[in-house]
Amino acid sequence: MGILDNMLKFFKSDSQTISENQSTPKEPKTAIEPREQKPAVHLFKDEDLHISDGLTRRLNVEKLEWCLINGIDNKAVRAAVKEKERNDKIQNADNEFKAQRKILHQNLRLELSKYNLLRKDDAEIKKVKKSQKDLLRDEYRKKVDELAIKRNTIFAQAYGDKFFYDLMLDEDAIGWEWNLSGADSGCKICKNNVGKYKKGTGPNFPAHDGCTCLLNSVYKGEL
Ligand SMILES: [Zn+2]
Repeated sequence: MGILDNMLKFFKSDSQTISENQSTPKEPKTAIEPREQKPAVHLFKDEDLHISDGLTRRLNVEKLEWCLINGIDNKAVRAAVKEKERNDKIQNADNEFKAQRKILHQNLRLELSKYNLLRKDDAEIKKVKKSQKDLLRDEYRKKVDELAIKRNTIFAQAYGDKFFYDLMLDEDAIGWEWNLSGADSGCKICKNNVGKYKKGTGPNFPAHDGCTCLLNSVYKGEL
C-alpha cells in the first residue's frame, strides 16, 4: 500500500470518528447503577516492600506503618525502620539548624540596629559603629558555621551508619574504602585514614565533627 492510500485511510477513519461523535448519544438500556464505594484497603505483601537504596530516597512510610501495625517483621521492614530513624535524625538536625540560625539572625539584626549611623555622629563615632557592626557580623558567621558543623556531624553519622549497615548485608563486598571528599576541600584531619580496610576493621567514621569524607565498598580483587 502506498503513502497516498495510507493517508486516505487516515482521513477516512478520521471523518468516521467525527460523524460518530456528532450523532446523538443513545440512552442506555439498563439503568446505571451507582458505583459501590469500597473502603480503600491496602494489601501490601512482604515481597512488595521496597528496601532502602539511598540516604535521600523518601521512605514509603505508609507501607512501613502497615507492616508494623500488622506485625510483619522481616529484614526489609527492619531496614526500612532503620532508614526512617536515620531520615528523621537528618531532618530534625536540619530543622534545628535552620531554627537556630533564624534566631541568631534576628538577634544580629537587633544588635546591628543599635549601631545605626545618625546624622549628628562625628567621623570617629561613625568609625567605631562600623567596626562594631563588622564584629557582630563576624560573630554571627562564626556561630552559624559552628551550627553547620554540628548538623553535618549528624549527617555524617547517619551516612556512616547506613553505609556500614549496607556493607554488612552485601555478601560480595570484602571491605571498604575511606576517601576524602575532595583534594582541596577534603578533611585535613582524615588524611591518615585514607585507604582500604577489610570488613569489620579500620578507623571509626566520622573521625571528628564536621567530617565530610566519603566511603565506598570494596569488592574481591580490589583490596
Ligand atoms: Zn574527616
